[in-house]
Amino acid sequence: MAENKRLVSVLGSTGSIGVNTLDVIARHPDRFEVYALSAHSSVDAMLAQCLAFAPRYAVMMDETAATLLRQRLPREAGTEVKCGELGLSEVVTASEVDVVMAAIVGAAGLPSTLAAARAGKTLLLANKESLVMGGHLLMQAVREAGARLLPIDSEHNAIFQCMPVDAAAIPAPRGVSKVLLTASGGPFRCWSLAQMSEATPDQACAHPNWSMGRKISVDSASLMNKGLEFIEACWIFDLAPEKVDVVVHPQSIIHSMVQYLDGSVLAQLGNPDMRTAIAYGLGWPERLDSGVAPLDLVATARLDFESPDESRFPCLRLARESVAAGGTAMAVCNAANEVAVAGFLEAKIRFTDIPAVIEHTLEQADIVEPTTMSVVEEADARARECAAAILADLQHPTSAMKQI
Ligand code: NAD
Ligand code: MG
Repeated sequence: MAENKRLVSVLGSTGSIGVNTLDVIARHPDRFEVYALSAHSSVDAMLAQCLAFAPRYAVMMDETAATLLRQRLPREAGTEVKCGELGLSEVVTASEVDVVMAAIVGAAGLPSTLAAARAGKTLLLANKESLVMGGHLLMQAVREAGARLLPIDSEHNAIFQCMPVDAAAIPAPRGVSKVLLTASGGPFRCWSLAQMSEATPDQACAHPNWSMGRKISVDSASLMNKGLEFIEACWIFDLAPEKVDVVVHPQSIIHSMVQYLDGSVLAQLGNPDMRTAIAYGLGWPERLDSGVAPLDLVATARLDFESPDESRFPCLRLARESVAAGGTAMAVCNAANEVAVAGFLEAKIRFTDIPAVIEHTLEQADIVEPTTMSVVEEADARARECAAAILADLQHPTSAMKQI
């Protein structure tokens, strides 16, 4: 079957999703070959991955890191090192590439994700921020280029599995009355606002069920992750916002559900391990061994559900308001969140300042139609400047900042 191997470019290969993707690929050497790997600047991790997977290309965003990797890679490894956005675009659009795993974190993933869609690739989408920022452009590119978008975010992967799709993997939400997005509630599910205001970055990153990168872990603690996923669901499944509900399910065993007009509710269950969704995306429409342990329902024993508390977790409301505002509001919300989360991780602001930064940025933004990529990038850049100024003000208050 060697000649039928699918060539995969894994973007963000040194991150949590990237490492899990390579774990699944390594289980199926007869089916997949790594064409390219990419990372921001982690040379040690990239070197080890190049030696293990012998990709044709390794792309480092950071130029110094690229030079260092070139020096350290043995010639016989057969991997050529590329650099920056151009290098990334080349390994995404190359004609030999079949599958692109988009697992860069944050808005930085938008250009390469869009390039993969425009090149008509099978796009395994983990980078939710690209869809939140440029959902209109990305979905249009998928349709026009005949790309195949397979959601990797566990909730959207679950919904995809519970919804009819056509032969080209386009979801057909016929008879669907609602999509029920499950949320674990994160590490602060039972914390008061006063407790959350003292939370440290390590506490916010200690997710009860999932092991993930630090940015998405903070998003999970603030429920902005669910807010971003709410927006993501509207775009991927072409749903009106009122058709998407969020339900807190602390065990993270049901990854999401689809409710039909006849009263049926279909759910996808499994242990909280991203390799299930990744293997589903890599294998679709077939099923592959993912290395995930089988679900033991008796040991799980309970599946609980509760409503999200938007007074303690205002980020969910802010995401919904951004959808209602439309246009570039979602890009603004995403950019302000990225700045606020980075500020919190650097211990510049409190955990409870994150929604305040986002809300004030949204209030000050000019919302326009996201007609082109440059309009979206402009909105993103302005929102970052605005959020950075608000963040500085919170660190050294010159005006009475409103806590929300
Ligand atoms: P991570 O921080 O563990 O890894 C991020 C990867 O992106 C690394 O390889 C890093 O080198 C690269 N990177 C960082 N900044 C970059 C930049 N400016 N340009 C190019 N590359 C850059 O993140 P993660 O947890 O693997 O998450 C990746 C994406 O997948 C995020 O969008 C996240 O929301 C989404 N996601 C993650 C999980 C999960 O379980 N980790 C689940 C669902 C969705
Ligand atoms: Mg998710």
